[in-house]
Amino acid sequence: MTLIDETITTPLGGPGLPQVRRIVTALPGPRSAEILARKSDAVAAGVAHSMPVSVVAAGGGVVVDADGNSLIDLGSGIAVTSVGNAHPKVAAAIAAQAAQFTHTCFMVSPYESYVDVAEALNRLTPGDFAKKSALFNSGAEAVENAIKIARKHTGRPAVVAFDHGYHGRTNLTMALTAKAMPYKSGFGPFAPEVYRVPGSYPLRDGLTGPEAAARAITLIEKQIGADNLAAVIIEPIQGEGGFIVPADGFLGAIVDWCRANGVVFIADEVQTGFARTGAMFASEIFGIEPDMITTAKGIAAGLPLAGVTGRADIMDAAHPGGLGGTYGGNPVACAAAVAAIDAFENEGLVERAQQIGSILRTRLDSLKASDPRIGEVRGHGAMVAAEFVDPATGAPDAALTGAVAKAAIAEGVIVLTCGTFGNVIRFLPPLSIGDELLNEGLDVIAAALKRS
Ligand SMILES: *Cc1c(COP(=O)(O)O)cnc(C)c1O
Repeated sequence: MTLIDETITTPLGGPGLPQVRRIVTALPGPRSAEILARKSDAVAAGVAHSMPVSVVAAGGGVVVDADGNSLIDLGSGIAVTSVGNAHPKVAAAIAAQAAQFTHTCFMVSPYESYVDVAEALNRLTPGDFAKKSALFNSGAEAVENAIKIARKHTGRPAVVAFDHGYHGRTNLTMALTAKAMPYKSGFGPFAPEVYRVPGSYPLRDGLTGPEAAARAITLIEKQIGADNLAAVIIEPIQGEGGFIVPADGFLGAIVDWCRANGVVFIADEVQTGFARTGAMFASEIFGIEPDMITTAKGIAAGLPLAGVTGRADIMDAAHPGGLGGTYGGNPVACAAAVAAIDAFENEGLVERAQQIGSILRTRLDSLKASDPRIGEVRGHGAMVAAEFVDPATGAPDAALTGAVAKAAIAEGVIVLTCGTFGNVIRFLPPLSIGDELLNEGLDVIAAALKRS
């Protein structure tokens, strides 16, 4: 089967895959079913999947499976392939670097691309102050290192995270993460000195930003004590927790309190970073300048890479040799990141995220106007979600959410759910998707909702 058609150019390039939804078998088709059967024999049951396919190619706004089904991608592999899958410049950079050298260990013999990525992070993250960065392999590892650095800098042990927060699946980041199932259940005991306080969830708490911040700050002061607190970590828009956009003024008040109390404010922008929200970083939307920012997902178009960027004096608190890892800032991943960051800056992707956002908002707002089961449409840029509720009580409706997602998946649209209550469908399309395909994906979801 020939997948690549040289005559086809996808928006932003990418492999020449026809930009269409085309379902030629039931999902999974026979070839995918065979591979998925092998998966269930060979791969640990804990590693689940939501789309019953085995992928052979992806680009623009589609993912193609082993049976030739072409699916609309509204998930970007969880906000990772924002520049598009197999973006030609990223693919070329990866190939060129792989042919030169694949690894030296940056802690043994350094190389330029790591420094390039660090410089780009220092330049692009909000805050007009001296910054430094360090690179790691995953979002969770970045979060762990941000906490390590904040503890070393402050000499204090405690860390505050928020209800509905998600920070990863390692031991410390499980402790920081709010939701038990599926992330934590049975996997404890968890790291100590992690405290969780309520954040801001306007649909469900009815508080203004300053009110929600005051609630959190009172708890922190009374139950933890500022003198014991190294860091506060929060996602500017909570991702796995349900694309929760805090009320105006909430984040600013928390940042101000941290600054007044010598507490390091860490923005976990692993999901929101790199143009996803219609700004290079979501912190810009809320007018905050975090002391530290963690990044991963969108940074390297799918290669494993993550960063911690922060005020130079804080970042330098860790002693030489105190930070690192065998693979952190791998040269192939750094080459991908340099090319991806170039695309974010020079291919109009911040603006494209805003355009995609306005299509998503217009379509979902109009669905909401005719269907009270959509309790709220929220988000920024190409990070938008619909929360499903019982119209009579406002209670979360996870069953409806699951039914809509399942129906869309069966018709070849990759959608993701999220939310503490499992009642949110989230939209994270690649910024390389075309308007037509995006609208078709939304048509499928609208029809699925109507039938559910
Ligand atoms: C995905 C995510 C993480 C964890 O990143 P991994 O690369 O999966 O370890 C951490 N924080 C946020 C906000 C995330 O969305």
